[in-house]
Amino acid sequence: MLQKREKVLLLRTFQGRTLRIVREHYLRPSVPCNSPLCPQPAACRNDGKLLAAEVTHYVIPDWKVVQDYLEVLEFPELKGVIFMQTACQAVQHQRGRRQYNKLRNLLKDARHDCVLFANEFQQHCYLPREKGEAMEKWQTRSIYNSAVWYYHHCEDRMPIVMVTEDEEAIQKYGSETEGVFVISFKNYLDNFWPDLKAAHDLCDSILQSRRERETESQETHGKEYPEHLPLEVLEAGIKSGRYIQGILNVNKHRAQIEAFVRLHGASSKDSGRCHPHFQVTFLVLTLCSEESVNCHAALCTLGL
Ligand SMILES: [Zn+2]
Repeated sequence: MLQKREKVLLLRTFQGRTLRIVREHYLRPSVPCNSPLCPQPAACRNDGKLLAAEVTHYVIPDWKVVQDYLEVLEFPELKGVIFMQTACQAVQHQRGRRQYNKLRNLLKDARHDCVLFANEFQQHCYLPREKGEAMEKWQTRSIYNSAVWYYHHCEDRMPIVMVTEDEEAIQKYGSETEGVFVISFKNYLDNFWPDLKAAHDLCDSILQSRRERETESQETHGKEYPEHLPLEVLEAGIKSGRYIQGILNVNKHRAQIEAFVRLHGASSKDSGRCHPHFQVTFLVLTLCSEESVNCHAALCTLGL
């Protein structure tokens, strides 16, 4: 018996507007669990790749671990890996097609002991997102809830280790369910795979480059490029004459420092220095003086 739910998605458009989309979401009593321990393989329709029978535990990576450490999870030594649909979707939406295809290929690869569990279609695993709940928190909560269900579904016979980068989740869920452990990915590698040096090295280098990226973005945040203005402000500014609309042409020989702006409705070109770090055709700008055009305040990708 299918159960129907309505899933509300809030999408932000390029124009900065928020779109509310309601999608029908159907839940099933059983979806393939792909475990050889399944007590109802016919109901689960486990006709694809199954997890290996000889593992000591299953490991379920949280969404952030799948996003950041997929290359480590690809190590064939890591067995009994269950990728939750919630984590896979987080990769698809936030890491792009290339990384998502890598994950799909890994799931298809018969040599690698990992499976997909469509937790968001299973009626006991699906959790609606609470009002005001951050997407990241909901994803982690869903994955944990599904891990607990999976543990009971296998009749508590296989310990499950959920690996997460969320400290709060480790505190909150760490000792909530007997048989379901919640620890950091680093902790997992240290304790379960202490001799898998290549995986440790790769994990360290990924962590290192992530920290560098974070420091870099903190250093530049808000300094080099001011925040873009909301669409309503731009529209009002154009109407009142405070902003001017134009088309940007970047000088390909001096792309870092020079761009030309053709003003809307004018045949002549106004030139100015700005930061052409964007691929925009239309922009809105402030005229500072006759010779210099300052477009730092108000860029947008709209055909206004
Ligand atoms: Zn099953």
